[in-house]
Parts: sequence; C-alpha cells; structure tokens
Amino acid sequence: MCGIIGYTGNRKAEVILINGLSRLEYRGYDSSGIAIFENEKIQLVKKQGKLAVLREELKKYSLKGTCGVGHTRWATHGVPNDINAHPHLSNKKDIAVVHNGIIENYQEIKRKLIQKGYKFASATDSEVIAHLVDVYYKKDLREAVLKALKELEGSYAIAVMHKNEPGRIVGARKDSPLIIGLGNGENFIASDIPAVLE
Ligand code: GLU
Repeated sequence: MCGIIGYTGNRKAEVILINGLSRLEYRGYDSSGIAIFENEKIQLVKKQGKLAVLREELKKYSLKGTCGVGHTRWATHGVPNDINAHPHLSNKKDIAVVHNGIIENYQEIKRKLIQKGYKFASATDSEVIAHLVDVYYKKDLREAVLKALKELEGSYAIAVMHKNEPGRIVGARKDSPLIIGLGNGENFIASDIPAVLE
C-alpha cells in the first residue's frame, strides 16, 4: 500500500502535497513523486527513496503552481527506481496519473496500446492508465477517465490531471481507499484522512 494526495486551490501545492505525503508514510513506500500545473504545462518531479530525496530534488525547481497530485509508491510491477515512480505521463506529456493498487489486465491493455503506437517509459502496470485516458480524451477529462476505467480490471485509487484543464483533478477508486476533502475555494483528495487533517 502506498499513498495519494491531490490539491487544487490557491495555495502553493508543493508544500501541501509533500506534507500530505509525509502523513501517509506509515503506509510504507519505496519512491515518491509529484506533478504540478506550472506555466501551462505539467511539471513532474519523482525520485526513488524516501521523501527527503524528493524534497532535495524539488529545491532545483521552486514550483509555484496551486494544483497538483503526489504519490508514494510501493512497487508491485517494475523495480523501485526513478522512472517507475509515479506520476506517469502520457506520450505528449499532457496527462499525469498517480495510481495505488494493481491493474490485473495491464499486459493485454499494454499490447493494444503499443499496437496503436504508444510508447511506454516504465515497467509499471499503472502507466497504461495515462495512455488509455489519452486514447479517450476529447475535451473532458472526466469523460475520458470514465471510459478508460471501463477497461481496467483490478484495484485502484487514481488521480488524473490534463494540461488543458488546469485546476482540475479527476479521482476514482475501486477496492482501494480514496477520500475527498471539500474546502472553501480549495479541495483535496487523499488515500487517508491524516493526509488532509491539517
Ligand atoms: N502497481 C503500481 C506500481 O507498481 C502501484 C503500486 C502502489 O500501489 O504503490 O507502480
């Protein structure tokens, strides 16, 4: 088990995401990462190892975005390394996905996506979600995620962002926990309540 946190509002997302992830550390993990809307693109920073490694890496970026998702990974498919760490991006780098759980039919989906011309960067089961959402994306991320989910077997909690829809995070869950925190002018999603208590 690992952790997901998402934030959209008007405060700096980086701090909130890292604090949230640190409150999910009890769930165990081998790597971590975040994706934040930054200057009309999605900026990804992810590292194998403890959150302290990610914190150090983030110093190189000074991210100011106010919407993003974070993840702590417990590897099930693919060794723990920087590339297999989440978030995962679509080939055009316009979709970012974090995933808790296991996609049981990922090999079959991956084969079909490769036939369509999609390139895979990681060895994870999770990366299929980013490309599958891309297949279905027209103008509405929620619609695309709903269509992609119909093809997935297994357990998941996911959070997805699209470059064209800044400020929006689409979440979904099946047999893995994911909670929503509604605030005044800001909203959260997370694997567990401690991540958003503050
Ligand atoms: N199955 C995914 C992976 O290996 C997610 C594991 C998790 O829940 O952290 O990357």
